[in-house]
Amino acid sequence: MKDKYGILGYPLGHSLSPYMHSRYNFYLNNGSGYDAYEIASDDLESSLKELHTAGVKGLNVTIPYKQAVIPYLSSMDESAAIVGAVNTLKYTAEGYIGYNTDVTGLRNCLIKNGLEPKGRNVLILGAGGAARAAAYVAVRSGCKSLYILNRTLEKAEAVCRDFGGSSYDYSCLNTLPDTSFFVFQTTSVGMYPHIEDMLPLPDEMLNRFEAAVDLIYNPMPTRFLEKLSQRGIKTVTGFDMLIEQGLASRSIWNPEEKISDDIKRKVYDECVRYSRS
Ligand code: NAP
Repeated sequence: MKDKYGILGYPLGHSLSPYMHSRYNFYLNNGSGYDAYEIASDDLESSLKELHTAGVKGLNVTIPYKQAVIPYLSSMDESAAIVGAVNTLKYTAEGYIGYNTDVTGLRNCLIKNGLEPKGRNVLILGAGGAARAAAYVAVRSGCKSLYILNRTLEKAEAVCRDFGGSSYDYSCLNTLPDTSFFVFQTTSVGMYPHIEDMLPLPDEMLNRFEAAVDLIYNPMPTRFLEKLSQRGIKTVTGFDMLIEQGLASRSIWNPEEKISDDIKRKVYDECVRYSRS
């Protein structure tokens, strides 16, 4: 095998990345491999060293290690440092460099779907790592105002300390301004296998959503997005973000790699079928 890549996380049963990257490698006929490293590690530093010794050149990192890997990096790019989470590692002579391609993935997903947070009142549901990536994108794109609504108020407050905006929990929903919102749903509520679950948002509030991106890609769409579509609201699933963050990771690992639109389309369609199978 020419070059080895993979995803590090635990558990990894839900991850589409091994299939997606293997299909790109197949069409590019580049001899590279991409494996799932499902490692329950209490010694992440040793696990990273072992993967490097095994010849792994680049990694995607997912739950629960997106923040835990940071102490073992030689450096981070600007967005990863501000978001405080990395999902892509590249091994260099100095050690691992960390990147956050969730940011690039979400930004490109918005462009692809003709959505623009600029000048909008952005409401982010959730305050975890994905919410921080969404806050970064919203603020950088020039949103008018930022509202963070989370089950745990302290985490919403922490996001607001780093990105600005106002924090809320579900006990003070009625104090949110009576306006329309551009929404990022970044919680794991409604994700497979709990696909009937929905955040406790009143209908009156849903009616004020002008567009919504749900970062969940399994199922597609979530029950939350279905409810909004029924109201004629523009909705976008997390699938395009997933595809775009994967492409962004590849261009970090191999800046010279060229993937034709035809291959991109084939892999996209195959991933849609695979994720629904
Ligand atoms: P995380 O850091 O663990 O954050 C999870 C968030 O969900 C927290 O805000 C948490 O609230 C909230 N939450 C969980 N259960 C809840 C419940 N029962 N009621 C209300 N809120 C609840 O996870 P993450 O990394 O941000 O990921 C979140 C989601 O984004 C996942 O579904 C993930 O698959 C998706 N994601 C998608 C992409 C993509 O490429 N499409 C990329 C990254 C992430 P508390 O703070 O109160 O616990």
